Amino acid sequence: MNLDNATVHYNINSAKSGGPVWTIRKNNKKVRMANYVVMHNCKPHVGQAGALAIANGANKSVHAWIRGDIAFVCNDTGYNRPNGGELVGYNPRDRKETSFNYRADGAEWRGGPVAYFMPDGQMVVKERALCGRCTEPCEGATDETGETMCNDCI
Ligand SMILES: [Zn+2]
Repeated sequence: MNLDNATVHYNINSAKSGGPVWTIRKNNKKVRMANYVVMHNCKPHVGQAGALAIANGANKSVHAWIRGDIAFVCNDTGYNRPNGGELVGYNPRDRKETSFNYRADGAEWRGGPVAYFMPDGQMVVKERALCGRCTEPCEGATDETGETMCNDCI
């Protein structure tokens, strides 16, 4: 199934019951659950009314997700955080956040080339461009056509 232009959000109820922690939706329909997801071309969404309601004590509801093109999805729980990534999170209740923010400095994360949704519920992003051939994050070398390539592919 093509999972371009899909969304991923943390599923609290499933996580609490020991199930997969991420829900993937496409065209507003749940298509699967997963413990590990890699997404490209990521863009965060936070419904501001939902964020405010939770900050004021309302029950949790699905109002925040990341939209993008899903490159890899798996139910295994054995994945480690990728090297060179940065933690991003969103916590409307305890932190009163209204956006996805870098955990290192609190700055807003406005999207990026790649995000990793980890089995422990954490989210890791990378800021570098993706290789034009293998689509992995790369250091930004360019080939003779100007295409960004990683060192393995150039
Ligand atoms: Zn490559």
